[in-house]
Amino acid sequence: MQTIYDYTLKQLEEMLGEMGQKPYRAKQLYTWLYRKRVQSFDEMTDLPAALIAQLKEKYVIMPVRLIEKQVAKDLTAKYLFELEDGMTIETVLMHFNFGESVCVSSQVGCNMGCTFCASGLLKKQRNLTAGELTGQIMYIQKELDAEEKRVDNVVVMGTGEPFDNFDHVMDFCAVINSDHGLAIGARHITISTCGIVPKIREFAARHLQYNLAISLHAPTDELRSRLMPINRAYPLDELMGALKDYSTDNHRRLTFEYILLKGVNDTDDHARTLAGLIRGMNAYVNLIPYNEVDENGYHKTDAKGALHFYDVLMKNGVKATLRTTHGDDIDAACGQLRAKHERSVSR
Ligand code: SAH
Repeated sequence: MQTIYDYTLKQLEEMLGEMGQKPYRAKQLYTWLYRKRVQSFDEMTDLPAALIAQLKEKYVIMPVRLIEKQVAKDLTAKYLFELEDGMTIETVLMHFNFGESVCVSSQVGCNMGCTFCASGLLKKQRNLTAGELTGQIMYIQKELDAEEKRVDNVVVMGTGEPFDNFDHVMDFCAVINSDHGLAIGARHITISTCGIVPKIREFAARHLQYNLAISLHAPTDELRSRLMPINRAYPLDELMGALKDYSTDNHRRLTFEYILLKGVNDTDDHARTLAGLIRGMNAYVNLIPYNEVDENGYHKTDAKGALHFYDVLMKNGVKATLRTTHGDDIDAACGQLRAKHERSVSR
């Protein structure tokens, strides 16, 4: 059954309108769903009984069911959820000094085929609906309610390519951003893409305030095409062109993600070429320690090498941050927990 979390407020007004209801019912429903966070329609005491009966017939509320939860020493938690059709996805909760951050998956599996990533081990089965994205947040928010905490930040950086599921991801962002719902500020929502240029342009044209992050990982077409097949479709000059337009038109700072892979993309030369690509843009580079994935042959650059790479970038006029690893004593790399689970089920 479909989840009621699928609807933006506007879509809910239309849907309820078609059912002969007044538009204000949508806001009432939103309050129950996202402020009071109830898990049954029967609790929505200010809605007419007939409407409750109709909603119950067509919709569920929570679309995810917990199968497994791993908690790391630093309290990073990884959730393996099952969806209505039995497929599984992963979600991660991280505790930062700037708040509780949730990393959601946007697809079941992924077709982008980045060679270093565990998500691609399982090909895309399907897109998640907006409600299945929202369900990941709501499940965790309900847990946090017990501690009187809230989901402060959301990153669409789990399994899947958000711009390969554009409409549902946009609806999801509208749901969690709505003032009548969770009201997570647009600047606290980050979408990370591997670089699907037409979708970056479509995103730019909407003038939304969500943050955009780009998985770059290599400063030349030759290397990037080897690591990330998407680069063959949208090479660096097209990608950087679209990003410059977005950043200038929207007055937004971009984040470039760069995982450091030992001996692959982490030399002084790479750092200088990367700086040349980004210098002058309103952007910074987030250097990410690589989470090693079994059997793919890539290794992480050691801490000293990472710091050196950071220095070379800074000396060449590009701002950078060195991210620390979270939850590295659990299966925290994108897709690792799920890949393990699917292997154990199919065995
Ligand atoms: N498809 C989107 C979002 C999902 S991947 C994108 O490409 O941005 C989220 C980020 O995690 C990307 O930057 C991705 O390259 C990175 N990533 C993938 N596997 C990783 C690993 N094993 N260790 C560290 N980062 C990884």
